[in-house]
Amino acid sequence: MTDSKTEESLISRPIIEIIGLTRSIQTGSHTVEILRGIDIAIPQGQFVAIMGPSGSGKSTLLGLLAGLDNATKGQILLDGVDITGLTEDQMAEVRGRKIGFVFQSFQLIPTLTAEENVLLPAELAGAGPEVTRRAKELLTRVGLADRLDHYPVQLSGGEQQRVALARAFITKPPILYADEPTGNLDGKNGAQILELLLEMNQREGATLVMVTHDPELAKHADRIITLRDGLVVSDESV
Ligand code: ADP
Ligand code: MG
Repeated sequence: MTDSKTEESLISRPIIEIIGLTRSIQTGSHTVEILRGIDIAIPQGQFVAIMGPSGSGKSTLLGLLAGLDNATKGQILLDGVDITGLTEDQMAEVRGRKIGFVFQSFQLIPTLTAEENVLLPAELAGAGPEVTRRAKELLTRVGLADRLDHYPVQLSGGEQQRVALARAFITKPPILYADEPTGNLDGKNGAQILELLLEMNQREGATLVMVTHDPELAKHADRIITLRDGLVVSDESV
């Protein structure tokens, strides 16, 4: 009885658990509360869209979930590990094993080729030479097999974002965060990026947390969470 119960709770444990999360920033004499107590549990493999008006705290939340920023209060458990207390080195290790991130502005390194950009997170995580093959496979999968040696400046926005997607996925992370990944792209390129993200989510089982303004994108999600003024104001299954 106790055993099966333990097992059940292990299986159903969310991959992301956010408990009483707050983030405030001291500006001069007063404190700005950006996130004011967020509680969300996300099961493995779910596709969650985060929506809400500009300034509602979406990017701040994603940054905290990726350990790129420090919480003021509360906990963030990734796969049961509270990342709010980790050192930079420990966080880098968790990021390397568990997290891929796609930004609105691509954030590729201009002095590295497409292939080198994709390889970077794997190299930082200590991967061996076999990872070169995976980088080529991923770039092929996103339709850039003939652009391996191109630098970001030689690629269109849509192509840069596809490189960024391959980079986010090089370490086979169970969690993929995307902050308005189609925000700088036209409709056609945006649709292509969404399709690739959906493939990562559906075929590879990656948990996908995507900030978007676009209801057309959000309707592909399993769940839509809306923030307003640093609070969750709705949380709905689609
Ligand atoms: P969203 O992504 O939903 O547009 P953000 O998370 O970027 O919102 O920002 C939420 C609020 O926090 C905004 O009002 C923004 O101006 C403020 N904010 C974000 N970062 C900082 C900072 N470093 N210093 C002061 N205010 C900030
Ligand atoms: Mg934002």
